Amino acid sequence: MLIVGGGVVGCAIAYEARKRGASVLLLERQRIGGGASHGAGGMLAPQVESAGPGAALELGLRSRDLFAEWQAELPTSFDLDLSGILRVAHTEAAAAELRRRAEWQRGLGLAARICDPAEVTDLCPGCAEVLCGLWVPDGQCSAPRLTMALAQGATQRGAEMREGVVVTAVRTGGVDTTEGRISAGQVVVAAGAWSGLLTPAPVRPVKGQRLLLRQPDRLLGITVFGDHCYLVPKAGGRVLAGATEEPEAGFDTRVTVEAVGRLARAACALVPALGGAELVEAWAGLRPATPDRLPVLGRLPGYEGVWLATGHHRNGILLSALTGRVVADAVLHGRALPAACAPERFGARHQGGGR
Ligand SMILES: Cc1cc2nc3c(=O)[nH]c(=O)nc-3n(C[C@H](O)[C@H](O)[C@H](O)COP(=O)(O)OP(=O)(O)OC[C@H]3O[C@@H](n4cnc5c(N)ncnc54)[C@H](O)[C@@H]3O)c2cc1C
Repeated sequence: MLIVGGGVVGCAIAYEARKRGASVLLLERQRIGGGASHGAGGMLAPQVESAGPGAALELGLRSRDLFAEWQAELPTSFDLDLSGILRVAHTEAAAAELRRRAEWQRGLGLAARICDPAEVTDLCPGCAEVLCGLWVPDGQCSAPRLTMALAQGATQRGAEMREGVVVTAVRTGGVDTTEGRISAGQVVVAAGAWSGLLTPAPVRPVKGQRLLLRQPDRLLGITVFGDHCYLVPKAGGRVLAGATEEPEAGFDTRVTVEAVGRLARAACALVPALGGAELVEAWAGLRPATPDRLPVLGRLPGYEGVWLATGHHRNGILLSALTGRVVADAVLHGRALPAACAPERFGARHQGGGR
């Protein structure tokens, strides 16, 4: 199996494919884990992120459940924390939305607890005054450490990973690269936001900027989601504050003053003492988005043995665990992939010409 792209998705597929005994060659044009997976918030948040029931929630819940297995078997830690996420409301409208969410999620048999202001303070002592909160059993991890753990796990099991090799074309039977043509019976395109440049798949970049802060004291022990930003506690007393969504920015990954200011203000509105926090880093990355914001997983129509595993948009870290397993099972054992992610759903315009 030849995998194009060394982000969390490509590395997850490489790891799971090696576990199933396949030979694996992964090609990465820059550094493994240097794309969107480098700076993501790492939230594993199907319940916080879903506005209603549907495929995104179902896939996310299935994937969230798989991380404990990776934690037990991967060679290095990726700081998995499944202690929950708190979403808070500062307005009546936001509070009503949290109550609605709690209701439909409990209706599906999921844990979802409305917290009064005192409970919110217990969970997050640094939080500004809120009307209420919603606690759900979502979680988070270190996105860069997860990507590296998967890459190391795959390599230890015998996968070959080559950095600095640019794939210039994908075709039936292999790929063209800056180092020449490489033959492969099965090619998996996991090139993140750049997947639409290599294939007809409708995958476009959605720029996201985020900050990394160092807390003055240990203010934040739980991930907190507000209306204008989220705060994710990280190792070493750091807090990740995200994120902008800038679909109009194309492939631009410059950090802007406007976004840094906006995220900093939103972070301080959520946890006021963060005003004294050190700004450690500001970063921008590109989410791979499809028109319906669901991933695209399956054979690329019009090609033989070419597969798509991309388009994970805001949830690529969350969905990596499920994607690695189902794509490896589909390519190696012919198992079915989730119907909601079928490439055919975008119609003939986004199918290949049988190259
Ligand atoms: C600010 C921000 C916050 C986020 N927070 C979260 C979060 O909290 N939870 C969550 O689940 N998701 C989050 N995401 C989304 C998540 O980061 C992405 O969905 C995920 O990283 C996509 O992984 P990927 O492997 O598809 O892409 P990438 O990590 O971008 O990897 C693709 C790789 O392919 C390589 N490549 C591209 N073209 C070629 C080529 N021609 N030849 C060889 N290699 C190539 C690139 O160099 C890159 O390394 C966030 C994203 C952003 C930007």
